[in-house]
Amino acid sequence: MKTPAGQLSLTLNTGDVIPQLGVGVFKVDDEVCEQVVADALEVGYRHIDTAMIYRNEGAVGRAIAKSGIPRDELFVTTKLWNSDQGSETAAQALQTSLDLLGLDQVDLYLIHWPAPLRDQFVETWLVLEDLHRAGLTKAIGVSNFQKEHLERVLEAGRIVPAVNQVELHPAFQQRELRAFQEPLGILTEAWGPLGQAKYDLSELPGLADIAKAHGKSLAQVVLRWHLQEGIIIFPKSSKKERLQENLDVFDFELTSDDMAAIAAMDADRRVGTHPDDGNW
Ligand code: NAD
Repeated sequence: MKTPAGQLSLTLNTGDVIPQLGVGVFKVDDEVCEQVVADALEVGYRHIDTAMIYRNEGAVGRAIAKSGIPRDELFVTTKLWNSDQGSETAAQALQTSLDLLGLDQVDLYLIHWPAPLRDQFVETWLVLEDLHRAGLTKAIGVSNFQKEHLERVLEAGRIVPAVNQVELHPAFQQRELRAFQEPLGILTEAWGPLGQAKYDLSELPGLADIAKAHGKSLAQVVLRWHLQEGIIIFPKSSKKERLQENLDVFDFELTSDDMAAIAAMDADRRVGTHPDDGNW
């Protein structure tokens, strides 16, 4: 695909372009999700992040179909759930997702969690490589993988994951993991880019001053920081005004002092599940 007008994009290790800012639909019920995705597409989003476990792939698919937007102008990611890990089940899981989405191919397919107690993520990765070769997904990647999980995949596999999608926000910046991934060409995707609203952004020291200086909201400054850090994001909101607000981050630039001030907000403050504990 090409970069949506006025937006930023990055290039995956497959050579495919990914819009750097999309919309996520975690905890958006299937009944409202179709409207949320329709609103997002209407205001200009072209990248949607869903997952089998969100139980809203059908709604995402309906919104895409009704939008009339050509398939090659959209970037769609979904994820394989833990209980579908394993060489017997992973291929069927992607087919089920494709059927729900009404697509022949997704742009990116991720292993949602390493689920280390299952110890099936390596064999699952090899299935994803086959699915990529079969053209059912343009790119493959992982989510919530720690360095040691990535190392096992890199050792056993022939394809380097295109992305690792992990919890990342100003109070939890994942500097060490990003430093490991960067030379390997693994792009970082942030989930919970706004801290999942589990802490108030106004608690971040100095953020309000930066926002005031740029005439932007606290959320917009945080999203802009992700973009300038080279991170892919897909903040979630069910409200059209907020969808618009979150997309309105391409007309200003944080200074190096702003970037340094936000770097200093890192507080090792995880708001979600630790990857070793995501064994559901
Ligand atoms: P987020 O950081 O995007 O926060 C969402 C919350 O922020 C919402 O409750 C919303 O009320 C609030 N919000 C949104 N825009 C705002 C604004 N402009 N001002 C103030 N508040 C605002 O958290 P998230 O939804 O958990 O993460 C984004 C996406 O990441 C998800 O929708 C999903 O696609 C993905 N995700 C992936 C995983 C994973 O394990 N791979 C886990 C969680 C989320």
